Amino acid sequence: KQKSLQKIINVPATTLDGKEIQLDININSQNDVDFALSYDLSGVGLFRSEYLYMDRDYFPSEEEQLKAYKNVVKKMGSKPIIIRTLDIGGDKQLDYVTFPEEDNPFLGYRAIRFLLDQKDIFKTQLKAILRASAMGNVKIMYPMISSIEEIRKANYILEQAKEELHEKGYDFNPNIEIGIMIEVPSAVAIADLLAQEVDFFSIGTNDLIQYVLAVDRMNEHIADFYEPFHPAVIRMLKQTVDAAKANQIDISVCGEMAGDFNATSIFIGLGIHKLSMSSQSILQVKERVLSIYEADCKQMIDEILLCKTSQEITELVKKMNDKTN
Ligand code: PEP
Ligand code: MG
Repeated sequence: KQKSLQKIINVPATTLDGKEIQLDININSQNDVDFALSYDLSGVGLFRSEYLYMDRDYFPSEEEQLKAYKNVVKKMGSKPIIIRTLDIGGDKQLDYVTFPEEDNPFLGYRAIRFLLDQKDIFKTQLKAILRASAMGNVKIMYPMISSIEEIRKANYILEQAKEELHEKGYDFNPNIEIGIMIEVPSAVAIADLLAQEVDFFSIGTNDLIQYVLAVDRMNEHIADFYEPFHPAVIRMLKQTVDAAKANQIDISVCGEMAGDFNATSIFIGLGIHKLSMSSQSILQVKERVLSIYEADCKQMIDEILLCKTSQEITELVKKMNDKTN
């Protein structure tokens, strides 16, 4: 299948009625970028920086991080690169940090909560990202935001990082864009307020689905309850998109759902025109984009928003997809 898809590698991802969809990749390391280049992608929608911190014995220094970020920037040229600050905790641990014993690590000491507690580690990372921003189109994304205060506290540390770099005479982009992951239900509920504080949203469906449906994303015993097409999930997507549009900020999706070609028509219908996914999914999603009309997706969403069950939504999506196959 992948082989027969090779012929669309250089075809722009545009719907049959001319809507251009930006397809980005999620990367875990600087080495994943080569794929992006061979596939002519628009950018890096999610650089999971935590992998830089894993598989080693100590926190990476500012210089070590800078080197890794710079490698990505050099390869991507002027294409956008969204670097997510360290999202550790939950399922991802560091061997050299003693994390607290937690009954519910996914509800615990994780991501932005860890960073705001470990300010020096956070600031070191921000400095490395800032310095990389002097060389390309680098953006910062904070993980697991659940309140306005977290953004303000993080931005305060960012300002300190900028000042320290400035004093040392290092170059950086002073207007670097700041975005947040939308992956906690409280963030969706206040998306209209959060949108006034940041430059972009990226929806992390992996965590958002787990939190909104109260289904552990790692627990196979309840995997059937993990339903991306649950009406609650669709409503949350819609609410987030509406808040982003009303405030004219960028919106994308970077969870696994973005790489599910069966969900592509839902995103386009909702008005999401940027999707970031793991490299294996790109061509299949592109193939789907090339075979649908944006107008049909919009019409389908109107119907989907009236559905009462996941099953009804799944059937509508299937009907639409069958039509295009
Ligand atoms: C997500 O939660 O959807 C996401 C993209 O982040 P991660 O999978 O790294 O938690
Ligand atoms: Mg997440």
